[in-house]
Amino acid sequence: MSYEKYKTATTTLGPVAIELGQTDIHAPEHGTWGVVTCDACGRQFRIGPNWIYGSRTSERESVEQFEQVLAENHRQKQAHKNCYELSDHPIALPIASLAV
Ligand SMILES: [Zn+2]
Repeated sequence: MSYEKYKTATTTLGPVAIELGQTDIHAPEHGTWGVVTCDACGRQFRIGPNWIYGSRTSERESVEQFEQVLAENHRQKQAHKNCYELSDHPIALPIASLAV
């Protein structure tokens, strides 16, 4: 057996996606909708809303938004991060504005 404590925690109010299989960051204030697997590289992320604040976007909208972010990472040859803070605004922002 082994045990390793998470190094940091995100406390963002919106939904988050946290990579599985790493202990750098976790989201103790967030629930879990499910696991998103990147089509291009197979990395997996647990995605879910803040326990208290919930999300203005639906589960499906958040997953679609996150899948676009992952695909955009590959298009721009950027490495995935181990934690993504997602927008809970129902109107999707243009991807370009996320890159600034
Ligand atoms: Zn990927």
